[in-house]
Amino acid sequence: MNCTFVVVGGGIAGVSCVEQLSQICAKETITFITARDVVKAAHNLKTYGRTLEEFDVKEQSANSVFNHCPNVVIVQSQVVAFNPEEHWILTDKDEKFVYKKLCICTGGRPNIIYKSPFVVGIRDTESVQQLKDKLSKARRVVIVGNGGIALELVYELYGCQVLWAIKDDAIGNAFFDKGAATFFLPHLESNLPVAMANQKCMESYVKRMKYGIETSLSSVSQHSSASSDSTQTVCGGALGPDWSSGLTVCDINSEKEAKRQVYVRYNCEVKHLIDPQELKQSNQNEASSPWHETTGKESADLPDWPVYVQLTNDEIYGCDLIVSATGVIPNTQPFASCAPFHIADDGGLLVDSNMQTNVVDVYAAGDVCSTGWNPAPCWFQMRLWSQARQMGVFAAKCMMAHLSNEQISTDFCFELFTHVTQFFGYKVVLLGKYNAQGLGSDHELLVRCTKAVEYVKIVLHRGKMCGAVLIGETELEETFENLILNEMDLTLLRDHLLDPDIDIEDYFD
Ligand code: FAD
Repeated sequence: MNCTFVVVGGGIAGVSCVEQLSQICAKETITFITARDVVKAAHNLKTYGRTLEEFDVKEQSANSVFNHCPNVVIVQSQVVAFNPEEHWILTDKDEKFVYKKLCICTGGRPNIIYKSPFVVGIRDTESVQQLKDKLSKARRVVIVGNGGIALELVYELYGCQVLWAIKDDAIGNAFFDKGAATFFLPHLESNLPVAMANQKCMESYVKRMKYGIETSLSSVSQHSSASSDSTQTVCGGALGPDWSSGLTVCDINSEKEAKRQVYVRYNCEVKHLIDPQELKQSNQNEASSPWHETTGKESADLPDWPVYVQLTNDEIYGCDLIVSATGVIPNTQPFASCAPFHIADDGGLLVDSNMQTNVVDVYAAGDVCSTGWNPAPCWFQMRLWSQARQMGVFAAKCMMAHLSNEQISTDFCFELFTHVTQFFGYKVVLLGKYNAQGLGSDHELLVRCTKAVEYVKIVLHRGKMCGAVLIGETELEETFENLILNEMDLTLLRDHLLDPDIDIEDYFD
């Protein structure tokens, strides 16, 4: 079949790319190839400020997403081969699609620390369901990783012991510094009713960006299970915010069940997994932990665990389950083995400032790609929902422009890194180089913190604001976004920027 545009992948990047192409190229047909019939689409997009945006993600059937787009042809198949010279791709149903422009949006898969029945990774709705099933029987869970997934999971788990192994010396290293980690730490020690009773926490919880699954999809689920044979090796689209709500081990009926029991082990990773027999033979013992102390039992009475982890600090802990939350590996197959793509160090398809790979007429967007252009001073790539959408939309604009031999400049959304999310029930806004990334010691930090209410950090570089972390309902995001984008010299104002008695928004209005 001859096509003008072919887009592969039913995550946020692919769906956003197809939606955009359908709007701007009404005369062209867009062929959308998705391994699953259920795809992810952005809804209720709210933009505020110049680059800040929030939206909900819904899991829907591809037909319902594109029913208003007559120029979109949906093909439910997995791409298995690709010929860049002849410009075609081949699906598992042996259908060949010849393209003029191709966009690869095949996302990523979890980077699993060990292949073992005791280790689970989280990527899509199915993997969360598997995790839920395993959690229902778990007494102790080891969580490995220090990114957003681990943070959310640790906060959501009640009713079982959680050992959290992180390679850094503070929690949430990917998103904030030690100061913010200190702000959040007491929340890991709070129990469910306490956290929920906090009205501020409750309000922001309700406002949280929602990740939803269309309820009327019973036919779709049947459809996708019928086709599961062909899609076994391909994950569904990556999750977004709210994937972790409802992961609690049991229904919360008592104070004991509502107890969060998190034990953080810093500066370590998992060295290896040990089976119980091997542990007995090696004459090694479990390291002591708060749980040993509280049970006060003799070691002979301690529970037998189905698996043990040995950390790089040599401590050994037994557990029922290990959650590997250590990032994603871009899903570049089958494309990368069929063409000499330039691959970035992190395994992604390298793209230029027009989302083009080095292979002619092939674009990539979302988690599968790695940006290879010289970025604006306060922007960098992070494999996030918002960037997947922005890249998908921009790739569509580039594909259209290039089809008409037009040039297109990099989109404004790549001027400033912004991320709006929720951690531990608090709104979190990250702007620019919020962790002074790449600045070495050539920066100054201004911090304001009110325990359990807000944490505000500004990064100043040579008198100009280049990043900020805003935790809580600070309402400073738009003003700070402007200050970063306008590159205003704040040297004379630095002492007043975080003065709670000064309405900084009003001041710069
Ligand atoms: P994906 O969503 O992975 O979609 C890729 C699609 O391609 C899938 O549908 C797959 O089935 C399909 N595919 C793959 N190979 C083929 C093939 N050969 N043929 C056909 N189809 C194929 N981001 C945030 O911003 N905030 C968060 O709070 C957040 N939380 C997260 C929590 C979890 C547990 C995870 C896993 C991710 C989270 N993320 C979050 C990251 C975010 O979900 C991803 O960055 C984003 O969804 C990536 O979108 P994508 O379209 O690039 O890829």
